Parts: sequence; C-alpha cells; structure tokens
Amino acid sequence: MLRSLVTAIFVFSLTLVGCGGDDDAGGGVQSNPNGDRPPAGNETGDNTGDNTGDNTGGNTGDNTGDNTGDNTGDNTSTAGRTVVNCDTNIADDVPAFYKKYFRCVTISMDGDSVVIESDGLPPHLSFYYETSDENYTEFVSQGDGFYQNPNRIEAQNIRMTLGSNPRVRGLTINDSLVDGDVGSSQDEYGMGTQGVALNSVALFNPLAAPGDDIEDELFSFDPYFGHPAQGGDYHYHTTSMGPLEVLEAAGLITNTTPGSAGIEMYGIMCDGTLILGCTELNGDAPDSSDFDSQNGQVHDIVDEEGTVHFTDRYHIHICPELFPAHQFTPEIQYYDGCDI
Ligand SMILES: [Zn+2]
Ligand SMILES: [Zn+2]
Repeated sequence: MLRSLVTAIFVFSLTLVGCGGDDDAGGGVQSNPNGDRPPAGNETGDNTGDNTGDNTGGNTGDNTGDNTGDNTGDNTSTAGRTVVNCDTNIADDVPAFYKKYFRCVTISMDGDSVVIESDGLPPHLSFYYETSDENYTEFVSQGDGFYQNPNRIEAQNIRMTLGSNPRVRGLTINDSLVDGDVGSSQDEYGMGTQGVALNSVALFNPLAAPGDDIEDELFSFDPYFGHPAQGGDYHYHTTSMGPLEVLEAAGLITNTTPGSAGIEMYGIMCDGTLILGCTELNGDAPDSSDFDSQNGQVHDIVDEEGTVHFTDRYHIHICPELFPAHQFTPEIQYYDGCDI
C-alpha cells in the first residue's frame, strides 16, 4: 500500500504518508472533496503525466515562488515570525553544526548531549494557524482534492536530547523492515514527534496508524508540505521549503525549492539520524549506490567549507525526483535510543 501511495505522491512532487492518527480526526468529516478521484491503484500510473505539470507549477508559483510570484510580497511581509526574526538561543558550547544549521530553537548541552528545545511553531505562513495568528494565511488549494484538516497549530513543548556518540543497532535496513506498516518492527520510530527540522518544526515518521486513511491525509498538506496532528503539533513527513529557508537565511543557498536547492538538509531525528535531501551537506550529489531501503547511508557529513561535522554518520536522502524508492522521513532507527 505504501508503495503505490509513494508513487502517487511523487506525482504531486510533495510527499507524505500518514501520521499516526493525527490528522484524521476529521477524516470522515471532511471527506475527500475529490470524491471523483480515482482509486489509489489507478492514480499511480494515470496521473503521472497529468499532474506533474499542474503541481510543479502550483508549487513553484505559490510557494517557492515567494521570490518571483504574487505571493512574494505577501508572504514575506505578512509572515510575522520567520527564520530570520524568530528567537534562537544556542549556547556557546554547543557544536558548530547546530549553531550553523538550526533556527527558532533553544539548544544547550547536558553533559556530552545536545538538547534541542522547540515550541514547534512553524516560522512561516500556514492556513493551519488560528486566523488571529500573524502567520495565518488563507487556504489555498494545491490541486484537486486538497483540503484543510480540522486541526489548528498549537505551541508544543519539544525537548530532544541527542547523545554525542549514538550506538549503531547493527540492522540490515531492507524492504522487510521498511514496510510502511506501523508496529511491524520494534526498530521503528514511534508515532508523534520523532525529530526536529532546522526551522524548529517537528518531524514525524512516515507511518500511518492502522485505520487511518492515508489517501485523505495525503491531500491535507499546506504549501509547506506540513500539517498539524490532533494535538496541534504541526509536522513534516518529507521535504519542505521551511528548513531550506534556514539555509537561505544563513547565506548558503538562494533557491529554497526542495529538489532544486544548492544544499539540502531538513533536520535530525531523535536517534541522531540526519535528514538530507538531493545533496550532501557540501552540495555534492549523493552516491546512491549503497543506499538502504530508506535511502540511508553512512559517511562523514562535511559542509561546503570542508568542515567535518559528523564522522561516519547515518543519514537519509529524501529526494523524490532522483531517489523515488523512499520519499519520506525514515521508518527505522539506525541508532539506539530516542529521547524526545
Ligand atoms: Zn502527518
Ligand atoms: Zn549521503
């Protein structure tokens, strides 16, 4: 099921599977406005051609297009809180990696461990904010069948502790482990917040709780490819321009479109697994020859200046265009532990 969905998602050049029972509170209520949408099985092949154009255009113009389209002025001037003006508090003794790549969070050391705290409020516009919020924007459909789920963004109390030397579980991360089914392995990430994006937003795993209608969730993303769960916990399951805006603000890239940015990194999971995109941290193209079933691999994480931030670090690459086999956050923990 995941597999056909994956393909369908790719069609929309945004991705997502489900999220543990989060956004489906209203699944029944809002019923899919796209009632005439063909069954998932058909979608995969049928819509590939049709929708590619539509959505590419939509996304580019509406979202990424901040710089080029009508929304440029709107988005930048009306978004009260952005990665540029949000509160970021990172202690002096925190490793350079976090100082360079994280915004809108508080980061401190607890012994050798890095502690990231976040309210999880996306520092960008979303129609999932309360209308009174300065970051609220009106609903804009990204295509047929897109809808707004009933949840609204609420501040969270995220606290994630990352050990300095995560212990490898020694798993062979193959298709039988990365099966898209929740509860099929004790090595899966849990449900709910399991990581933090560069812009302070929560990262969820790519699994849908049993009974969830993945097909409905797929269409509830806002233009930043995020949505809130029932607890108001806004999150991503895949790529988003949100984290890339941090890289832009840091002067590292100028294009924040996932798949087109000069450097793509999205965040870090609770076990220390890094989430990169279509590039390595220095902008090089990834060598996918040793990817596991969630596009994971181990090598040094080196930035554009040649600084090695992590040695032999497991990370995954989310890049639907180049590596369509896995288009989401990771399902399986490569390292032991998850303190979040
Ligand atoms: Zn979700
Ligand atoms: Zn890599």
